[in-house]
Amino acid sequence: MAAPPNGRVLPPSFDINTFDKVMDAMATIVGSDNVSRDSFHGNLGGPGGELFYGDIWPMGDTTDHTPSGAIRPKSVDEVQEIVKVANRYKLPLWTVSRGKNLGYGASGAVVRGSVILDLHRMNKIIEVSEEHAYAIVEPGVSFFDLYNYIQAKGYRLWPSCPALGWGSVLGNTLERGFGYTPNGEHAEQQCGMEVMLGTGEVVRTGMGALPGSPMWPLFKGGYGPSIDGLFYQSNLGIVTKLGIHLTPAPASFALCELSVPSQDQLISMVRTLAHLERENVIQNHTSISNPFRRALADLTTCPDLVPRVLGPGLQSGGGCATNADMTALAKERGWGYWTGDFALYAASPAILDANWALVHERIAAAGISGACVKITFRADAAPNERLNASKLAVPSEYTAIPQYGVPGTQNASLMETRGGPNAKGNGHICFSPLFSTDGIEMQAWWDRAQQMAEDARFDVFADFHVYGRYVLAIALVVYRPHDEGERVKGLFERWLEDAEKHGVSEYRTHLDYMDRVRGQFNWPGGSGVGAEAGGGQERGKQDALGQVLRRLKGVLDPEGILGQGKSGIWTVPART
Ligand code: ADP
Repeated sequence: MAAPPNGRVLPPSFDINTFDKVMDAMATIVGSDNVSRDSFHGNLGGPGGELFYGDIWPMGDTTDHTPSGAIRPKSVDEVQEIVKVANRYKLPLWTVSRGKNLGYGASGAVVRGSVILDLHRMNKIIEVSEEHAYAIVEPGVSFFDLYNYIQAKGYRLWPSCPALGWGSVLGNTLERGFGYTPNGEHAEQQCGMEVMLGTGEVVRTGMGALPGSPMWPLFKGGYGPSIDGLFYQSNLGIVTKLGIHLTPAPASFALCELSVPSQDQLISMVRTLAHLERENVIQNHTSISNPFRRALADLTTCPDLVPRVLGPGLQSGGGCATNADMTALAKERGWGYWTGDFALYAASPAILDANWALVHERIAAAGISGACVKITFRADAAPNERLNASKLAVPSEYTAIPQYGVPGTQNASLMETRGGPNAKGNGHICFSPLFSTDGIEMQAWWDRAQQMAEDARFDVFADFHVYGRYVLAIALVVYRPHDEGERVKGLFERWLEDAEKHGVSEYRTHLDYMDRVRGQFNWPGGSGVGAEAGGGQERGKQDALGQVLRRLKGVLDPEGILGQGKSGIWTVPART
């Protein structure tokens, strides 16, 4: 096929005339202002105001996720018309809700030349119930939108939000993202969905299938098998509405911090916190930081830290704040090596007092040498009142982690930390492995992972999320895409190889690595009806779960128009 004029990217096996024809058809559905015929404009805007679609921070130049264009519908009817046209032309679509997904590929698609189905104009908050503490939202609703709506109504609810509030409630939930309130495991809080399949059929899940039932956002199960899980990190459908449970505002609230002095105490720290979370004494999850991350939090108040923490990144060829230096710094400042931030939420001050006493008791009983736990902020409502999150006078050094559900963007300034203060144009990657809360494998992994980061001359920011039964141990690295992309990719691949060797997987990954992570989930299963009785080796090739997902893909999206390659699921060979 001839190269497209003007260097335009086209969907695989499309020529420019067919592409223009299909985009003309899309323009009759959504209006020409809502169709982009290249990737250069129309996006909501990245952290630096980038308006183009794609992976705004490519790791190296070996993979290219540039879309050929975008379509921005406003309604479910428009999405349905788009899906019909896409089926007719076999046009590959890639759905985003707000397209923020930073560190995992942003608004890029696995297959170069896919058209982005950008749902940010579908931004209705369909319902919020104060009494039952839920919301039903469309894809374009951001965490800011939901919070502002709740504030405007004066509802006593604390909606959960992640570290940055500009993303989509629905998109983040589908990626199994998390926030920091007691309802912060978003996928666990989801209740009811409306989904359009690749065929254009629209389905409501759970109680949503019972016409007129008020139970849709209240009872997850419905009747018979649940299918909601099929649409997580998925290319089996386009989710057009989602119900999610919210945290009722507490009457008493405290921000708390647990620190332990040495690197090898991660195991006991994680075990103790996870136990308190399983007991529901701590209701949100704990976010654990290493000394580098702890130092970043203090940079504005302690400018003397800047040369020590950010200075090494200015070295020619890129350097890093070494673990030895950051360990010494933590000791000098009395921070502890690991700092865990969590909160207590209670229906009365007396309950909070009781839970705080239990936190103390359990930590003392764990016998972690040098452990220090304290309340850094507390608020109690007047009798028979509940707290309004927007009115809490939380000191600025504790506002970065939104444990009381107020969305912000201050964490985006993290990107400015490589190459000196106020550096621009940086990106970040997240390596996001999962561990058991016994902490043993996690401690061993971290000791290796931070050494690998240091060998690759990158600062590493530990962002570990401790839940009752698992830890999402995110290692975050800020890099300069223009001259550090290849080196950061090398580091990411060393981390991946190491994880594969130890039977560890990520919970979510970048577009570049979806096939590879899917490849880890290859439990062989047993032979089904009609399969030849195979030996262990044959069965070893079967990849039972992958096979089922591919079969479902063939049924729910027979022309393979949705999200080819998402989470390593394909119906047809890669169209490159
Ligand atoms: P956010 O803006 O919250 O970061 P995105 O809109 O970037 O979220 O979505 C992240 C990923 O989730 C997308 O790349 C896509 O794979 C999936 N996704 C987003 N919205 C939908 C949707 N409405 N239906 C199905 N999958 C979606």
